[in-house]
Amino acid sequence: MELWFTEYQTKNLGLKCRIKETLFTGKSEFQDIAVVDTFDLGRMLVLDGVFQTSIFDEFIYHEMIAHVPLFVHPQPQNVLVIGGGDGGAVREAVKHSSVKSVEMVEIDGMVVEVSKKFLPEISVALNEGHPKLQLKIGDGIQHMKEAENKYDVIIVDCSDPIGPGEGLFTPAFYKDVYKALKPDGLFVQQTESPFYHQELIKRLHKDIMKLFPITRLYLANIPLYPSGLHCFTIGSKKYDPCQVALRIPEFATRYYNTEIQKSCFALPNFVKELIK
Ligand code: SAM
Repeated sequence: MELWFTEYQTKNLGLKCRIKETLFTGKSEFQDIAVVDTFDLGRMLVLDGVFQTSIFDEFIYHEMIAHVPLFVHPQPQNVLVIGGGDGGAVREAVKHSSVKSVEMVEIDGMVVEVSKKFLPEISVALNEGHPKLQLKIGDGIQHMKEAENKYDVIIVDCSDPIGPGEGLFTPAFYKDVYKALKPDGLFVQQTESPFYHQELIKRLHKDIMKLFPITRLYLANIPLYPSGLHCFTIGSKKYDPCQVALRIPEFATRYYNTEIQKSCFALPNFVKELIK
C-alpha cells in the first residue's frame, strides 16, 4: 500500500509526499515530532504536521538564513540562533572565520535529539559538538529578555507563528532583540510566504521598522515551503544590506553566492506593495 503525507498549507491546498518509511514519531512537551523518509525529498522533519526541512532542499533555507545576514555584517563575531533545532543554521554560521561563538537557544530538546539521530547531514555541528557552539535548551523569548548589547547577528530560525513560536513574532520580542544586539548589530527572521502570509508579513515589517532604522526583506526559492517562494526579514541598526561591500565566501556553498547576496533583495512589485 502506498503511504502519503500531506501538509495543509492553506485550508484548501496541500503538499503531498509519498513516503518510503516513517522513521520516528513522538510527542514532546511542545509539539508532535515526526521524521519521514520520502521518495522525492529524502528524510524530512515534521513538527505538528508542518514540514520543517528536507534533505533535498535544506541547503537553500540554511544558507540563506545564515549567510545573507552574516555577510551584511563586516566582522560578525558573536552570533545567536533562536530555534533552529535541526542544526542547519548553526552548521552554516560556524563556517565564517570571523565568528568566534555561536549560541543556539532551542526550546525543544527532543527536536535536537531526533535531528542528531535521523538528520546527521543537517545536525553535523550539533553531533560533533563544534568548538564555536554553545547549545542551550530553553525559551528564546526568555533568553532575549536577559541579553543586552551582546550579539553582532541574531538569527531567528523559528517555526510558524503558532505554538511555542508565536511569541517570536511580536513587538515585545523585537524590542528585546534590539536590546540584545550591539550598536551595529542586525537580526534576521524567517517570515514565511509572500503569497500565503501577507497579513503577517505586513504586520512584522511595520513592527520591525518602528525599532530598526534599516528593515529589508529578501527572498529565496524553497520547494518545500508553501508557494515555493519564501521570505526573510532583516532589522539592522547600522549596515544596510543593499549598500554593503560584497565579500566572497571562504567556504563552499550550494545556493548562496555574491550575486544572490545582491539580487535576493530585489522584490517583485506585489511584495514591495506589502511592505511599503
Ligand atoms: N526551517 C524551519 C521552517 O521554517 O519551517 C524552522 C526550523 S526549526 C526546526 C524551528 C524550531 O524553532 C523548532 O525546533 C522549534 O522547537 C523552535 N522554537 C519554536 N519556538 C521557540 C522558542 N520560543 N524558543 C526557542 N525555540 C523555539
